Formats: sequence, C-alpha cells, structure tokens
Amino acid sequence: MRYRRPKGTADILPDDAPRWRHVESTFRDICARFGYGEIRTPIFEDTDLFIRSVGEETDIVSKEMYTFDDKGGRSQTLRAEGTAPAVRAFIENQMQGQDTERLVRLFYLAPIFRYDRPQAGRYRQHHQAGMEALGSMDPAVDAEVIDLALSFYRALGIEGTRLLVNSVGCPACAPPYVDTLKDAIRDRVDELCGDCQRRFDTNPLRVLDCKKEACREITAGAPILLDELCEECADHFAGFRASLDALGISYEIDPRIVRGLDYYTKTAFELRHDALGAQDSIGGGGRYDGLVKQCGGKDIPGVGLGMGIERILLVREALSIEDAGHEREGVFVVTLGDAAWTPGYRLLHELRAAGLHTDIDFRRRSMRAQLRAADKEGFAQAVILGEDELASDVATVRDMESGEQTEIALGQLAEHLLEK
Ligand SMILES: [Zn+2]
Ligand SMILES: [Zn+2]
Repeated sequence: MRYRRPKGTADILPDDAPRWRHVESTFRDICARFGYGEIRTPIFEDTDLFIRSVGEETDIVSKEMYTFDDKGGRSQTLRAEGTAPAVRAFIENQMQGQDTERLVRLFYLAPIFRYDRPQAGRYRQHHQAGMEALGSMDPAVDAEVIDLALSFYRALGIEGTRLLVNSVGCPACAPPYVDTLKDAIRDRVDELCGDCQRRFDTNPLRVLDCKKEACREITAGAPILLDELCEECADHFAGFRASLDALGISYEIDPRIVRGLDYYTKTAFELRHDALGAQDSIGGGGRYDGLVKQCGGKDIPGVGLGMGIERILLVREALSIEDAGHEREGVFVVTLGDAAWTPGYRLLHELRAAGLHTDIDFRRRSMRAQLRAADKEGFAQAVILGEDELASDVATVRDMESGEQTEIALGQLAEHLLEK
C-alpha cells in the first residue's frame, strides 16, 4: 500500500456515516430547540488569533497547532479549537448589532486539528459539536449551555453523564491565587512530572489538572481557588449553582477543573462518562468574559461548550446504544436479458426523478443474484423486467419482505411503485 491516511486521522466510511449523521442531526435539532443558530467559519484562521486567545503558554498553542505559511507568507493555522473562530466571526460580522446586551447564540459542527498523541477517541483531526452564547453575564446562561448538552446526550440515549464544575476566577482574583498556589507547592517542584515542572512557571493552574498520581498528591493539600474568589466571582458561582439546581441538574464541585485555555473566566466545567475509562471527558467549556474584547471587539461576555463527537460515538458503542433499525425502502430494478435492460434503465431514472431510492445491477447478473443484492441492501420492493414480462407489457413487482409477487401493467408501473 503506497498511501495511508495521516496518523491520528480516520476515514468515515458509508457504513459508519449514518451514526455520524444521527449524532449531527440530533445536535442540530436540540440547538434549534434552544434557539442556537449555526455558524460555519473557515477551516483555517490567522495563527495570531489562536495565540492571542488561547494563550501562548498553553499546550494547544505551544505544541499542538497545525501552522503553515501560505504562498503570501501569512502564518495560518488549522482550526485548533472552536471558540476563537466563532468569536472572531461574531466581531467581524457585527453580529451583536446595537444592543450590546442582546444574547447571541451560536452552534457549530466542525473538525478540530491538534498535533496530539493519538489516543482512544482523540484524533489529530477530531470533530466537535459546540455552542457559544455571547452577550450575557447571567450564570443562568452558563447553566443553559449545560442543559443543552445534557439534552443532546439524553436524545442520543446516553444517560449517566457526570458534570464537574468549578470557577477559575477573573483577572482580579485568579493571579493572586496563582501566587498562593505556587508558594504552596514550590518546595516540591522537583517531584512534579516534567510537564508540570514546566507548567509551574508558564501555566501553574494546569498543575491542578495533571492526571499523574505524584502531581495530584503534591497539590492535594494546596489552597483552592473557590476559597479565594473575589466577591463578584463568588456571587456568580453561587448563581450558577442555583441555576443548575433550578433545572434539576446534579453536579460535583471539583477544584481541579481548570481547563487548559487562557481565556476562561469564572465558570469552568467538564462532562464525563464512566463508560470511557481513563479518557472519560466527553465535553467541557466555560465562561470567557474578556475574550471578545481581547480579540478586538466590545466588552461582551460569553460562555461556551465543546463536545467531541468521536467520544460520544465511543460512549454509545460502550453502552451498546443502537440507532433504530432502518425500515426497508425503495425499489430495486431487476432486468433479465438484453431487451429488458433499456426499459429497466429508463425506469431507474424515472423512479429516482420521482424521489424514490432506486438501484439496478449494472453487472446484469442472474435473477437470484440480483434479488439477493436487493435484499441485502434493504430494498422494500423489486421490480422484475424479463422478456416474458415485456412481451405482455407487464412487470412483476415483488415484496422483498413477504416474497409476494404481483403483475402490474407497464403503463401503471411507476405510479404503482410510487404509491407504496
Ligand atoms: Zn474574580
Ligand atoms: Zn504532572
């Protein structure tokens, strides 16, 4: 084999595609129900957009982006995450209008590119379903995006999703806390894993969400940000919890949920499912009140959530959730002998033009082989055109389920088949 797909990517074949379409169309339906409108942004953006929003010292920007110079010498980057492009488009297209407190709700289904170590359900090109709600500080909106996500999972048959919540504060209360955290673990920096030793200087909050046991033990007794929030952030977090309670959404508070991106403020959360084992995250997000302004827009707050479609498909597989079986539908045109080919081929065209799923055997095999193919492909009916039939101006219509056959006059054939 000469060519192989790039490492960490997947081919979605026709047998897999219906599962993807089901997840995507369910997401679109739920988003419509919640008043979110679809946005499609380019697959690449100016590199600077990701650097400025996600943060220079984050894993995404420092290690994982697919960045290239185009022929004009501009540095471009394949979509490394979903929020920055949506925010860029929101600003550029002046979606806010005159009313800066108007709630603008967006959703997207898009591939995300990250040069990551490939692991279960994690690809270098993976796909995300995401939402962004811009224009409101109200923590009820934070709970709304979570409600949307949980409704989406439930519609896909996924129960048992766990919600973990935290607050990562704001520019007033997070930096002093980071100093407190560094002081608390400074003596044991040498014992942290290599990544965390680097993070201690560049992105200390991330030391909290390291999965390594040694690192977790070192940070276990450290002060937590929830205890050091400023009054505004503490009130917001209380309001967020009250909104979740109002919707009957249960959650766990987890001070280790810090998300990896610089733009998060206040609310941070993660959705997990135990069916996935160690890589149990199926979604996450949070609030980003400074991001729009930082990207050159007005001072407009926002909150968003992203969910990995590959992970969702893995959960459904682990839980043995099957989509409803497909009903038999459509008509397979069986032609026997040379004389029957052209009338059959024309019928194929007419039935397709009339909107019916129709196929024919271009190999013109035996009747048995053609009927077997029709059965395997799930056709509801077969129409058999042979020399005997053509001689008496009829066709045999076979019900593929019962095997019952009826003769129909050729003149009424299309009408008869379309009726069913
Ligand atoms: Zn604060
Ligand atoms: Zn670590």
